[in-house]
Amino acid sequence: MNYRELWIPLKETVDKSYYIYLSDKIEEYWLQQLKKKQYTKHVIITDENVYQCYKKTIEFFEDSLGEIHTIIRPAGEEYKHISYLQEVFEELLSANVDRKSCIIAFGGGVIGDFAGFVASTYQRGIDYYQIPTTLLAMVDSSVGGKVAVNLNIGKNIVGSFYQPQAVFCNIEFLKTLPEKEWICGLAEMLKHSLLDPNVYENFRVQVKNQPNYREWDKERWFQMIFESIQVKARVVSKDEKETGLRSILNLGHTVGHAIESYTHYKALNHGEAVSRGLVFSLLLSNEKWGLGDEIINEVFDLMKLLKLPMDTYNISSEELIPHLFYDKKNQGGKVKEVYLKEIGEPIYNQELSLDNFRNTWQRQKQLFG
Ligand code: ADP
Ligand code: ZN
Repeated sequence: MNYRELWIPLKETVDKSYYIYLSDKIEEYWLQQLKKKQYTKHVIITDENVYQCYKKTIEFFEDSLGEIHTIIRPAGEEYKHISYLQEVFEELLSANVDRKSCIIAFGGGVIGDFAGFVASTYQRGIDYYQIPTTLLAMVDSSVGGKVAVNLNIGKNIVGSFYQPQAVFCNIEFLKTLPEKEWICGLAEMLKHSLLDPNVYENFRVQVKNQPNYREWDKERWFQMIFESIQVKARVVSKDEKETGLRSILNLGHTVGHAIESYTHYKALNHGEAVSRGLVFSLLLSNEKWGLGDEIINEVFDLMKLLKLPMDTYNISSEELIPHLFYDKKNQGGKVKEVYLKEIGEPIYNQELSLDNFRNTWQRQKQLFG
């Protein structure tokens, strides 16, 4: 009998740590870091809107780094579809992008996910950097290395965990952000704040003092974005691949994702769906997990002040139920949900029964329409 065993040692602890730099300008130091790596080519992947607003920034990169290959994608979630990968891979190949080149994702979450996925698979993976330009991308999607593309039947179904070399975050890019996109980022910032009592307290005081976030000064935004990133960074560094704890970041997302799926990812953006999903999670946390009335009322007041949507978007529970089952968090056909016992005390990996869903969705409808 021929029998052999072959042991394949794989270094599990490859260091994938990286810095997120937060500033209010493009720091010379960031460019130095890119130069030091002596990449054979820098590829910027951006979208049409960001390109229109920040053509000069790309030219500035060109002046500092030499020739840059820029890929300008149409804007929108629908262009994160898997079918667009081939043309981008072919373009990279024709532009002689090799394994010593790097990709710079310059845009919101859609560009970050798409360009990150391209980087993670092109020639089995090349270096990539993120320059987030939306509030959502700064506080959420550029942190934690989730990259993905969409299939017809669902968002982010094909993807990987692929950490960038660095994230260069310049809050000045927010100056041109459309109104709708602020809501999206604020919903995720509120979610992060609910996971940490100190961050929540700062968020609460700030919103009470000045509900119009357009009036918040630069220093205030800087501090709040920093704190929000910190909440997410702490969680993902404890559980990079979402084997447990990381799922607390899905607070509000079970119903949020179902709403997005029901509306075919078109009528609402992610934050508008998550905002409604957060209301649902808080109501159920109040009913089942003892989250106090005063707390949910306080959070609901903050949401009203920020004009975050809280209604059920006229969707009946029966219409939404099939979409609850498409969520990636689900396991063994069971719908999973995250709840809050207290601010800063999430409980994850809990099953959401359909009866509980129906009752609470009904309550949300009665309260907020
Ligand atoms: P998200 O970060 O919420 O996933 P997207 O990547 O879809 O968002 O970006 C949302 C929209 O905002 C897109 O149309 C994008 O082109 C546009 N956008 C992104 N960043 C900026 C910016 N700094 N200024 C103006 N428009 C922007
Ligand atoms: Zn989200």
